[in-house]
Amino acid sequence: MVTTGSCLCGDIRWECDPGPESDMHHCHCSICRKAHGSAFVTFLWVDVSDFRWLAGGHVLVRYRATPASVYERSFCPRCGAAGPIETAGRVYMPAGCLDGDPGMRPDRHIFTGPQHNPSWFSITDGLEQVDDFHLRSPSLPIVESHTPTDVPAEDIAGSCVCGTVVFHITEAFLKVHHCHCQRCQKGRAAAHATNGIGRARAVKFIEGEHNLSEYKVPHAEFFKQVFCSTCGSLMPEVYAEQDGCCVSLGALDTDPRRPPDDNIFVAYHAPWYEITDGLTCYDEAPPGGYA
Ligand SMILES: [Zn+2]
Ligand SMILES: [Zn+2]
Ligand SMILES: [Zn+2]
Repeated sequence: MVTTGSCLCGDIRWECDPGPESDMHHCHCSICRKAHGSAFVTFLWVDVSDFRWLAGGHVLVRYRATPASVYERSFCPRCGAAGPIETAGRVYMPAGCLDGDPGMRPDRHIFTGPQHNPSWFSITDGLEQVDDFHLRSPSLPIVESHTPTDVPAEDIAGSCVCGTVVFHITEAFLKVHHCHCQRCQKGRAAAHATNGIGRARAVKFIEGEHNLSEYKVPHAEFFKQVFCSTCGSLMPEVYAEQDGCCVSLGALDTDPRRPPDDNIFVAYHAPWYEITDGLTCYDEAPPGGYA
């Protein structure tokens, strides 16, 4: 079944036709989490001959997350959404960017050990879990994790994949939402975002603020993406007029100190992702407001 995909702003578009060898899986490695800002990233891969760029393949920014990385990651320079990854004759697409139902379902979770999967996210479905995927596929590098230094005891720390941008959150989050809206799916290129909501003044950029890019969705009241221009990692959004901030929890290097409260906009959830965490689900925005 031919399936199309695109980034949040629409500059990058592609189509693919998954064959019988294709599969889908959820990746919980620390690099996917940081690059997308989400708890995990779901990939669908196809043979390179079953993939076609429709627009923008040449404008994607490509980079290696670590010098040892065997593959390049990519993101849209306009909206920051992660894009397809080409490696070893395959193209890995972030399923959050697919426009419709690919007719396939993820069959396992990889990199699920505590060194990867964060404290604030539990896997609650019955799919197979593979702790350390590289043990089965020696060509993949070990995923390095970043340990922040000089963090005041009361702060929460975060950074981008390439390390250019470092930030602290200096006040507790007021709410944490798993957001399944279609903008979050495309923007994070994932099944859903996990957004920590707080006051605008809580965000303190320590390093690299000059390297941030910003994309505001046309006609949206709030939605924007703030990302590192070098690696595309999603960084805290500050909404000064509303005195609010929205932090993609995947960017954090320390515990957010507040577990997710609920699932919101579940009426729009990805057809290939089943919500099994037992948290309260709201079809639309949270009835009591975001904060
Ligand atoms: Zn884009
Ligand atoms: Zn970066
Ligand atoms: Zn959302």
